[in-house]
Amino acid sequence: MIQFLKSFYIKLSAIFLVLLILMGISQILITRDASELFYRTADQTMNRQLAQNIATDFTDAVADSIDFASIKHMIHYMMVINPGIEIYMLDESGKVIAFFAESYKKLQTETVDLGPVRDFIADSQATPIFGDDPRHLGRKKVFSAAPLQIGKNIDGFLYVIIESEQFDIAAETVWESFAVKTLIRSLLVSILVTGIIGLIMFALLTRQLRRITVVVQDFEKGKLNERIPVKKNDEIGHLSASFNKLADTIVANMDELKKTDIFRRELVANISHDLRNPIAAIKGYLETLQLKNDSLDLKKRQEYLTTTLQISNMLEKLVEQLFELSKLEASQVKPQLEPFSVSDLLQDVIMKFKDLAEKKGIHLRAELPEKLPQAYADIGLIERALSNLIDNALRYTPENGEVNVTIKKGNQQIRVSVSDTGCGIREEELPFIFDRFYRVEKSRARATGGAGLGLAITEKILEIHKSTISVDSRVDEGSTFAFDLRTWQPA
Ligand code: ADP
Repeated sequence: MIQFLKSFYIKLSAIFLVLLILMGISQILITRDASELFYRTADQTMNRQLAQNIATDFTDAVADSIDFASIKHMIHYMMVINPGIEIYMLDESGKVIAFFAESYKKLQTETVDLGPVRDFIADSQATPIFGDDPRHLGRKKVFSAAPLQIGKNIDGFLYVIIESEQFDIAAETVWESFAVKTLIRSLLVSILVTGIIGLIMFALLTRQLRRITVVVQDFEKGKLNERIPVKKNDEIGHLSASFNKLADTIVANMDELKKTDIFRRELVANISHDLRNPIAAIKGYLETLQLKNDSLDLKKRQEYLTTTLQISNMLEKLVEQLFELSKLEASQVKPQLEPFSVSDLLQDVIMKFKDLAEKKGIHLRAELPEKLPQAYADIGLIERALSNLIDNALRYTPENGEVNVTIKKGNQQIRVSVSDTGCGIREEELPFIFDRFYRVEKSRARATGGAGLGLAITEKILEIHKSTISVDSRVDEGSTFAFDLRTWQPA
């Protein structure tokens, strides 16, 4: 319940209702002011001639001498007939010289500002004009006025306040009941109707927000496949789409982290396995040498030492490869790009493998075009990649086989291919040969000393050169590994 009261919907609705009530109150006040102004203007316009007409009645009574008793009597008489007016007789300075009032009421000021009176007499159209109310200091009222000759010497005025005090009292009472009966009632009805419609609309609008909240909470609890249906192209639709994207990214990152974790565990297992066996072998040979030192002939001893050295070399290579791959995968290696001749590089690499190829009875050849642009790459890393491929080709090709390295000029690249007539790779194995520690035939690779890292390193080297490596292989026919290098474009 408390949760509901704190909800966005309740806050929104409360603000809406407060605004509705404030709007209603200001509507009442504006209506009151506007209607007052309207009635005063209408009153003054309608009673424009009133003072003039009354003045005609007074003309005789004030023509020669001023008979205050009969004037007051006349004023009283007229005010009884029309309690809505108050009549004042003013001299030429605006001083009140005759009026009617109940005994308990006194005038608060005896002078009326003649400015508005003169404006009224001068301009027959301008309304409303407000003048002083002698019974209330500072209160302004609409009036009617006319010049009045009082006696022989006074050029006075007849000043008639159109909305008398009694009118004010009556109007106040009428206003109160009118306001209560009509305005407040209609205000309540409109607040009720608008309020109900508004609350329903808010409920509909916030429904989508509630849906979002449910999905987000479910997601938080582990339901990672939950997504918000995006129905509209508004702010809430955008919010939902953004959440869905965020959720996809989180799930993808989590998958990636899981994969990395699995890979890390496999790596540790593979490394331990690949290190344990050769170390155990070295230890075995060394222990034999130590124990049977006297009984072993020189030839046997030499044989044991050679094998130990071979295993140590293999171990050294494995550790080097691991170190190299970890550096490449951690993006610690930045290729030092420079222009160089691929033909020269290839000839050097062929020279390096010449002895090994001869020993194995394999024909190692290079096919170089006559004119070749320079490549733009890290020469050290490309040498490493090329060596890995030639090394593999020699390793997996039987005696009398062939290994050909070809270089072809492309549009803006140089294509390097290493093909052999070796054992080939089965189609179903091809997608995995670039994975770390992947060996097609574990025993075969173990016998040849490969740790399953060479192709992973080669692929990484080409990846940091923004290139890729492709493979085409047929079992018992041979394999071709190829990659492209960017050519040097002098500026
Ligand atoms: P390894 O050190 O075992 O050679 P690589 O990563 O270089 O590891 O190669 C992965 C696997 O791909 C090898 O174990 C081998 O089975 C296969 N392979 C690589 N090159 C060739 C090739 N030229 N001919 C046949 N099989 C190959």
